[in-house]
Amino acid sequence: MLIEKVQSEIIDVGHKLLRSGLVTGTWGNISARVARDTLAITPSGRNYLSLETQDIVLVDQNGKIKEGKLTPSSELPLHVAVYQARSDIGAIVHTHSVFASACAVANKAIAPIIEDLLQVVGGSVEVAHYALPGTAELAHNAVKSLGNKNAVLLANHGVLGCGSTLSEALLCCELVEKAAQIYIYAQMLGGAISLSEDDISQMHAFYQQHYRQRQEEARREE
Ligand code: 13P
Ligand code: ZN
Repeated sequence: MLIEKVQSEIIDVGHKLLRSGLVTGTWGNISARVARDTLAITPSGRNYLSLETQDIVLVDQNGKIKEGKLTPSSELPLHVAVYQARSDIGAIVHTHSVFASACAVANKAIAPIIEDLLQVVGGSVEVAHYALPGTAELAHNAVKSLGNKNAVLLANHGVLGCGSTLSEALLCCELVEKAAQIYIYAQMLGGAISLSEDDISQMHAFYQQHYRQRQEEARREE
């Protein structure tokens, strides 16, 4: 069944987040659209390794619980607000990865410096104004700074990566973390050089029109 497949994909992403060190312990959270009025989201404060498909909570488009015994992620308002603002987004991954969080703590956006990030995110990764985790204010600030791109930093907190699929949202978080590390090192070497708006839009369009499909085809063959 489709819902169970998405729930199991969410758990798989949770395992990958732990293995890659993008999250520590039970922090971070993952969600996906499973139907027009149904979202699936990780439960709050649970070890990713212990999750079973029925632990992934189903909520409606306003965040009201439809199915599941566990408490949904405390960042449910953030996920719901992003899905409401962006019909093109099908999955969201929130991490606390180290280099991206360093940028978020220093309140420094990750400049548009490197190809893979620009293809998937569509530009710089801005820092949303600080608000307490789990609040409607954080959701509002994040949606505002996300704009029409696919990633945003949450001040003094972490990263939000979006995509049309769960694998794309995970990829987005991985690329943000890599770009943050490169950005910090380049700044230490004397200064990161940003790419032009024209180059950024060409790279993003190439990803959306060609490269994404190539990756998806290859994934289906795996
Ligand atoms: P949850 O365990 O409630 O999803 O919270 C983790 C987190 O990262 C809060 O910002
Ligand atoms: Zn968090």
